This record gives sequence, structure tokens and C-alpha cells, in this order.
Amino acid sequence: MADTLDAKSAHGDDSHEETREDERERVVKSDDEWRSELTPTEFEVTRRGGTEPAFTGEYWDTKTAGHYLCRCCGAELFDSNTKYDSGSGWPSFYQPVARDAVVAQEDRSLGMLRTEILCSACDAHLGHAFPDGPAPTGVRFCMNSASLKLEPSEE
Ligand SMILES: [Zn+2]
Repeated sequence: MADTLDAKSAHGDDSHEETREDERERVVKSDDEWRSELTPTEFEVTRRGGTEPAFTGEYWDTKTAGHYLCRCCGAELFDSNTKYDSGSGWPSFYQPVARDAVVAQEDRSLGMLRTEILCSACDAHLGHAFPDGPAPTGVRFCMNSASLKLEPSEE
């Protein structure tokens, strides 16, 4: 099931370029700009690849219906319909709203090989993906609450 993660594009294997149906607008700001817009925790997680402690974030146990947006740029990343209780203490999803909403890349920090997940619009660090998620993807997108902003549904 690990092949559903599209690790290939993260490894620079772009031999056949995919055509994106909607090219996402890129958001590029300096660290000073991000620092002025984010809380210290949000900055540390999203711009420095930090990880909030388990069971402490705003959304790990949230079941509210809605969309999860990038805390930095507001891009839509996850739908509450794909959120599930992984028991990890971090908000967990089995797939992003769109294939190109997030970018996966290899992360060899901490002596482990992991798949880091970033916002495709602004490169915010969101969390990591693991191949132990539920059907239908088998992927667990283990995200930081500090990287997300929930926009509740209007009903
Ligand atoms: Zn973003």
C-alpha cells in the first residue's frame, strides 16, 4: 500500500512530467514576515519543521465537520471526512483534499527515514506520512494542529 503515497515525485523522478489541472498559486514570504503572522509555536512547526507534543494540539481530538486549511497560507489541505482517530495524539487523515495539495519529500532527520509532508503552496511543514493508515489509501497523514486551521462547515 505504500505506493499510494507517490513517493516517486519526492525522489526527483520527474521523467514524465504531470500536467496539473490547476497550478496552485505559490506563497513565498521571508522568515520575518512569517514570524510576524504566526505564533512562536506555529512558526517553529511550520517554518522550522518542528513537531508539537502529542495530545497537546488544538485538533488531535476534533470531530467538527469542515475543511482544514494551511495555517500559513490558507490553502485547503484536508477534509474532516478523511480525519480519523489514529490514537497518536496528532490529527490524522488518510488523504489530502487533492493530490497536489501537499508535497511529500524524504526526511532523514533524527536517524530515521520518514516522509515529510509539506503544503504545496507555501512549503509549510505539516507533518509526516506513514504507511499504516486505514483504507482506502493505507496512508496515515500525521499532521500538527499548529500547521492547520479548521474552517467549520456552515450547517
Ligand atoms: Zn500553505
